[in-house]
Amino acid sequence: MRRKTAGTLHKWDVSGGTATARPIPVQMVTDMTNLVSQRLKSLRSTDGATWHCGAGTIRKIRSFAACSLALVAILSLLAAASIDAQSPVADTIFIGDILTLDRSHPKAEAMAVYAGRIVAIGSRSEVESLATKNTHKVRINGVALPGFADAHIHVAGVGEQLEKLNLRGLTKAEVLAKVAEAARTSPNGSWITGGGWDEGFWHPAVFPTAKELDAVSDDHPVALSRIDGHSTWINSKVLALAKISRDTPDPDGGLIRRDAAHEPTGMLVDHAQELIRRVIPKPTHADEEHRIRIALQQFSRWGLTSVHDAGVGLETISIYKELLKRGELPVRVYAMANGEAALTHYLANGLELDLGNGMLAVRSFKLFLDGALGSRGAEMTEPYTDAPQEHGLELMKDADLERIVRAAHQKGFQVNTHAIGDRAVRRALDAFEKGGVTPNDRFRIEHASIVTNDDLPRFVHMGVIASIQPVFVGEYSRWAEDRVGPSRIHWVLRTRDFLTAGVALASGSDYPASDSGIPLDTLNCLVTRQSAAGKPEAGWYSDQRVDVDQALRMMTAGPAFAAFQEKDLGTLTVGHYADFTVLSANPYQVLSNDLRKLSIRMTVVAGRVTFDTSKNQAMPRR
Ligand SMILES: [Zn+2]
Repeated sequence: MRRKTAGTLHKWDVSGGTATARPIPVQMVTDMTNLVSQRLKSLRSTDGATWHCGAGTIRKIRSFAACSLALVAILSLLAAASIDAQSPVADTIFIGDILTLDRSHPKAEAMAVYAGRIVAIGSRSEVESLATKNTHKVRINGVALPGFADAHIHVAGVGEQLEKLNLRGLTKAEVLAKVAEAARTSPNGSWITGGGWDEGFWHPAVFPTAKELDAVSDDHPVALSRIDGHSTWINSKVLALAKISRDTPDPDGGLIRRDAAHEPTGMLVDHAQELIRRVIPKPTHADEEHRIRIALQQFSRWGLTSVHDAGVGLETISIYKELLKRGELPVRVYAMANGEAALTHYLANGLELDLGNGMLAVRSFKLFLDGALGSRGAEMTEPYTDAPQEHGLELMKDADLERIVRAAHQKGFQVNTHAIGDRAVRRALDAFEKGGVTPNDRFRIEHASIVTNDDLPRFVHMGVIASIQPVFVGEYSRWAEDRVGPSRIHWVLRTRDFLTAGVALASGSDYPASDSGIPLDTLNCLVTRQSAAGKPEAGWYSDQRVDVDQALRMMTAGPAFAAFQEKDLGTLTVGHYADFTVLSANPYQVLSNDLRKLSIRMTVVAGRVTFDTSKNQAMPRR
């Protein structure tokens, strides 16, 4: 959000739009792609700031300097082009309705791509004039938009979700029936795992117990994580394997739920879940790679071209590197390093930027300050309204947080802190302030779900990005008011308030810790404040709705900015990667109630089709 587009690039815009300078010959444009992008990079690194030429929005002197530099670049590139006139011009031309989200040329009829980047975008006749006999032409069967990005998702978790029992939206009886079925059909003693249950759907809405699972699970250990991933329901077999008894103390930052006799009931909250991690068979490297692969395939079907993986260790990063090396990474990954080993490794070895033409980057750390609101793990200043003894969990002490913020800041890493409760959000902002964080550092607060009025302007002053997951509206509409009460409910999921205050926003899904990872559900939710299932009908606190344009920018340019990638991604602009998503209809032209009916027709990353519903027919070559 509030990002600036690379204005000088209009020099190469062949759309013939009103704001563009006279285009230089298009043939040369495409011949010079690599030179142009290299030259642009070097210019950007000297100017460091923005590229507004002639747009009266910046001071004249800076504008003049940037324009002069650009002119020098153009002249030298013209010279270079005449030497290199035989280079290919456009390897692919995409033809159809294109919405660029670039304010200087919002619409286009065609887009030429060379080596993964957009080399021309504008009218069909002008762009098609760049074609040679080797140019591949692809029809856009729908409406193309900049590729959808998810600023907060758990990739291997999505893969694991695809592999295990899916308990979303089920009643308790249905969950138990599914476990019984799995117990009948799998070898004795093998683990039954599942996730996605939510007692909010049950009557009464209370946490379940080990005994209920025991009745249907025979000899199988059973572990079923709640929809938010912050608590796990286990049977007595797992309690025994993990040696959890009435004498086991609650671990730091965790809770073993107990009955009146102090016996564990079979619910482990937040860090208490660690007690079973050591007895659940660990996934092998091959298991993990399989999960990542199937998740990435799913993302392409959902229209995602880029994801920010919100907390990965060194092993997962090594899997990404292997996939990249083999050319098998279909979605861009911005990996947030998490855990002691990754922290130590990256602080010693530095950032990994732009691996494989922007397919993979590691330049941020993910930290966890608190738990989730549903399981009352979100750290609140005042107690929970529906549990007056509880304030939530502090998963990281201020001193540790400040130490990591300082170390990361010094080495040029971005810090992305999970903070949901108002107290955790404030602690994150306090630590950033102490660490001297400025807008250039683009530090992030992941979730930022409950933010007080006093803290809103602090995001703006320090340029802290709110990395939000709009799809939580569906879940929160069922119980958030019970948790925080009427006086604090206006601090919860305040998307429009963030926008109005001028906070930079990046939108994601937190899937599988939320109802849906589907970007079209996020779009619908931002605009209507309804869940993926269309509830509640009037929208939950509908004053926090945003319009389609704002929503789309949060899902494209927002994540690009939050990953320092706005010069390559986020809009369909000459010089950017050709990453786009084709929808079945123009989202600006459908009624907001019909946004849920949109579908994904095609997904393209760096000019390569990663998903296609229609098996596009290649158009006749010129
Ligand atoms: Zn998350």
